[in-house]
Amino acid sequence: MGFSQFKLHPQITAGVKAIGYTTPTPIQLQAIPPVLQGKDVMGLAQTGTGKTAAFVLPILERLMTGPRGRVRALIIAPTRELAEQIHTAAGELGRQTKLRSVTIYGGVGVNPQIQKLRAGVEIVVACPGRLLDHINQGTIDLSHLEVLVLDEADRMFDMGFLPDIRRIIKHVPAKRQTLLFSATMPDDIRRLAHEVLHAPVTVQVGHTAPANTVSHALYPIPQHLKTALLLEVLRHTDTESVLIFTRTKHRAKTVGRKLEQAGYRAASLQGNLSQNKRQAALDGFRSGSHQILVATDIAARGIDVSLISHVINYDMPDTADAYTHRIGRTGRAAKTGDAFTFVTQEDEPMVRSIERVLGEKVERRTVKGFDYKQAAPSRDTEFARPPRQHQQRRKPATAERPRTHSAAAPRQQGRQAQPAHGAAHRGHAPQHSTGPKTTQTAVRRTFKPKTSR
Ligand code: AMP
Repeated sequence: MGFSQFKLHPQITAGVKAIGYTTPTPIQLQAIPPVLQGKDVMGLAQTGTGKTAAFVLPILERLMTGPRGRVRALIIAPTRELAEQIHTAAGELGRQTKLRSVTIYGGVGVNPQIQKLRAGVEIVVACPGRLLDHINQGTIDLSHLEVLVLDEADRMFDMGFLPDIRRIIKHVPAKRQTLLFSATMPDDIRRLAHEVLHAPVTVQVGHTAPANTVSHALYPIPQHLKTALLLEVLRHTDTESVLIFTRTKHRAKTVGRKLEQAGYRAASLQGNLSQNKRQAALDGFRSGSHQILVATDIAARGIDVSLISHVINYDMPDTADAYTHRIGRTGRAAKTGDAFTFVTQEDEPMVRSIERVLGEKVERRTVKGFDYKQAAPSRDTEFARPPRQHQQRRKPATAERPRTHSAAAPRQQGRQAQPAHGAAHRGHAPQHSTGPKTTQTAVRRTFKPKTSR
């Protein structure tokens, strides 16, 4: 059954049609009816499940009646990108409704935000820090608020935002509808949910949902050969858009540069970028003018590119949870995707954690023809790996916090890497030992470096 079952206002249905959704996703099927009924909802769903429309559509429906020009819905999100993404979804789905939304986050001028708030908006999509600034300076009036959404609550916790959230909640009416979305439910989020939700309906889509549309593969590799392997894998894999994850900003930058040197249209996204540069990198990736985006976990939060065909973990994530978030970027909304993870020997404990979460063993691949025995070029330690504490909780608070603009200190890099120029194996015609994947590759183009012969 389609969206007609929700009996949304014709102007909203028109937005759904215009954006191209025909069938509600499972989280939309579960969440839209209780939200339309005005109930509080706790949604356990990660990015990629269609959760944004699951709360945006019923919010638009509610706002169709009642006064305009007042802030009646507030959506709080951990990152600027996620806030922009929600704002864009609200704008597209609600295009015909003439409802207005504004984004509020740090790192950009405050005056345009004040002007938009003064001009009158019904929906505010905000990151916590800058929102608190507006509250403290009296530049936002939340006294007419009817719906509060806390999106990616576990991310907000990871980023140290919970105290800010609690402060914000003191400034919104106690009588309101509250929706809380989170991919995971650590104790702190459970406590927060208990505090802010009233008799909530819990809706959930399986934690391993991406596994249905994402195929996973591990590529065992010594640290110093990662870049050579990356180039080899890219050269022989059909891809649309590739999102590559590194552990640090420095590595994101260096890997991005090496891909560019190899002729790929690549950009790196890391916390040190100005908001404009960040947006340009994201826009370039969304529009397809950049084939590849290299990012850290934090910088990549909220990235919504539905055509990501491959997520490549150049570096293993710190937690199994981070792994599911990373690969949530591909295989979105029932499309298929591949997640490749480069694994060094010391990553093995993390591999086991990930396999536990996925409930299956992940296939290990070697690339035929690739010289795994080659020595590191002299002076090239290819990102000699710093010691790492497995299972450590992600660093709270300081990382790229929108409010303070501070960025996580890069981990110790060991000796500085020299680029491992080009792939040393052009003469070979390597293949994945598991054979090509015909089902997913038929419609994809193979990236050819722009200088390819
Ligand atoms: P989200 O989980 O909200 O970030 O959504 C993930 C992606 O799925 C976005 O690109 C949405 O535009 C897309 N999407 C959401 N709902 C639907 C739907 N019912 N049908 C097709 N695509 C959808």
